Amino acid sequence: MGNDALVDRLRRKGILRSDRVIAAFRSVDRADFVPASQAEHAYEDRPLPIGAGQTISAPHMVAVMTEALAPEEDDAVLEVGTGSGYQAAVLAELAGEVVTTEIVAELVEQARERLAAYDNVTVVETDGSTGYVEAAPYDGILYTAAAPDIAAGVLDQLAPGGTLVAPVGDRHRQDLTVYRKGEDGEIARDVRSSVRFVPLKGAAGQGQTR
Ligand code: SAH
Repeated sequence: MGNDALVDRLRRKGILRSDRVIAAFRSVDRADFVPASQAEHAYEDRPLPIGAGQTISAPHMVAVMTEALAPEEDDAVLEVGTGSGYQAAVLAELAGEVVTTEIVAELVEQARERLAAYDNVTVVETDGSTGYVEAAPYDGILYTAAAPDIAAGVLDQLAPGGTLVAPVGDRHRQDLTVYRKGEDGEIARDVRSSVRFVPLKGAAGQGQTR
């Protein structure tokens, strides 16, 4: 089974829906973002270890989050939790500019190599738990680690009309939550499915600094 078969399966299940997101998933081969030791599992729909106790998210989860964020061609997008770089590559296919933050140094280097072909992605080694104000505002913000809460300071980094998608909850159980900022600056919150992500570290994380 190859990457196209994986995409077809996610389409049949109704998880991948929009043409642009489907095209992005076809362009990014998940096998390029898993360690050699996991190569035989690259097209399975489950998370895989990527080192440093972290994982590349399951493809259906990346699909759900990307569909929820729905980046447009000229959008500026912030990702918190680069990990393997797979989600960042998918975002780079869809958006104008992607900034992705990662707190684990060894993963930063690996992701930079894997994302070298994209001139619209910047991998920043930092604690992204409070966003990344240096490149704000963003049309989209995506957390790929479980946040206990989304601080007002992060929502401030969202442009009017922008969307923030994050797993929100404790380290055991989270709800995929979508925040939309209206043109008037008002925030609407929509709590979706129950999900399970690795804990967010850092200042606004799950109480684990490194
Ligand atoms: N988007 C990734 C999923 C990686 S798992 C992918 O496609 O592979 C979540 C990642 O978030 C881990 O690599 C973890 O190290 C990182 N992380 C956790 N807390 C963080 C923080 N405060 N700032 C930036 N990255 C963080």
